Amino acid sequence: MNYKIAFFDTKPYDEVSFNQINQKFGFEIKYFKGHLNINNVPLTKGFDAVCIFVNAVANAEVIDELAKNDVKVIALRCAGYNNVDLNAAKNRIKVVRVPAYSPYAVAEHTLALMLTLNRKTHKAYNRTREGNFALNGLMGFDMHGKTAGIIGTGKISKILIQTLRTMGLKVLAYDIFPDYAFAEKYEIEYCSLDYLYANADIISLHCPLTKDTEYIINETSIAKMKNGVMIINTGRGKLIDTHALIQGLKSKKIGAAGLDVYEEESEYFFEDRSNRVMDDDILARLLSFNNVIVTSHQAFFTQEAMHNIAETTLQNIQDFIDEKPLVNEVTV
Ligand code: NAD
Repeated sequence: MNYKIAFFDTKPYDEVSFNQINQKFGFEIKYFKGHLNINNVPLTKGFDAVCIFVNAVANAEVIDELAKNDVKVIALRCAGYNNVDLNAAKNRIKVVRVPAYSPYAVAEHTLALMLTLNRKTHKAYNRTREGNFALNGLMGFDMHGKTAGIIGTGKISKILIQTLRTMGLKVLAYDIFPDYAFAEKYEIEYCSLDYLYANADIISLHCPLTKDTEYIINETSIAKMKNGVMIINTGRGKLIDTHALIQGLKSKKIGAAGLDVYEEESEYFFEDRSNRVMDDDILARLLSFNNVIVTSHQAFFTQEAMHNIAETTLQNIQDFIDEKPLVNEVTV
C-alpha cells in the first residue's frame, strides 16, 4: 500500500516541486491549504506522515492528536524547527527537517536587503518610473571598510561573511560554538555580543530561534548599538522584540531595518492580503517607515532551494520507511 503524506500550508509552487520529485518516490500525497494546528489536525487521520512548514503549530496538543492518528513522521520542509515541541514528539513521532537546501539563497537575500536599504534602489525604481530623476534622499554609504556584526556563524552566514569580506567589510561575529578555523581563514573576529553591538554598522541575525535567542535584539541590546545601525533579520521573527525595534527606529537609533521574518508573520506572510484592511498595528507601523524593508519570508525562495527541499523532504520520509539512519532527524 502507498505511503500517505498529508501536506499542510502548501502553495502552487510547492505542489509543482513536490509533484515533480515525487515521480521518483511514488508517495500518495494530499495537499491541505492551512498550516497545521489543533483545528485541522483531525485531517491527518489515515496518513502515515505530515509535511509542514515554518508557521505550523506542532505543539504538545497537536502532537498528541498526530500520535492518536498514528502519524509516524513529521517532515519539516524547512530548516528551523522551533515550532515543533520535540519533547512531546520524543519516542512517539520522528521529526525530520531539511537542514540545508540552499544557504546561498538566504545569504544572497540577506545581502540584497543590505544593499537595497543602503543604496535605496527600491525608491529609485519608483522614482524614475514616475519621471523623477532627483537624487535627494538616496545617498548611501560605502560598505567597504564598514563593520558587519554577524550573530550565528552557521551555513548561511558563512556564505554571507565570505561575500562581505570580498566587499571589504570587517566582520565581527558571535556564536556559542565559534569556528576559529573559519575565522582565521576569512580574517574575522569572534567577540562578545556587547562588543559586536558597540562596533557594528550592520547587524545580521543568523542564529536559530531558541529560548536563549528569543528577543536577543531588545531594548537593552539596541541601546548598546551604534547610532544609525542597520539591522537585518533573515533568521526568525522572534529574534527581535518588534516593539523595541520600532522605538529604535522612531528615535533614529536604528538607521534601517531589513526584515524577512516577523514575530507575528503567520497571519500575513505567504498570503495575498492586499484586499483586506491590515489589522496588525505593529506590522502596519513597520511598513510605514521609509527605512524599513519587509519581505515575506522569501529568503529561501529560489528554484534551486525548492528543488532541494522537495528532494530532501521525500528522501527523509523514504529513509524512515526503509529503516535507514535518519541523517536529518531533529531530537531534543
Ligand atoms: P546553522 O545551524 O548552520 O547555523 C546556526 C548557527 O547559530 C550555528 O553556528 C550555531 O552554533 C549558532 N547558534 C546557536 N545558538 C546560538 C546562540 N544562542 N547565539 C549565537 N549563535 C548561536 O543554521 P543556518 O542554516 O545557517 O540557518 C540559520 C537560521 O536561518 C535558521 O535557524 C533559520 O531559523 C533561518 N532560516 C531562514 C530562512 C528564510 O527563508 N528566511 C531560510 C532558512 C533558514
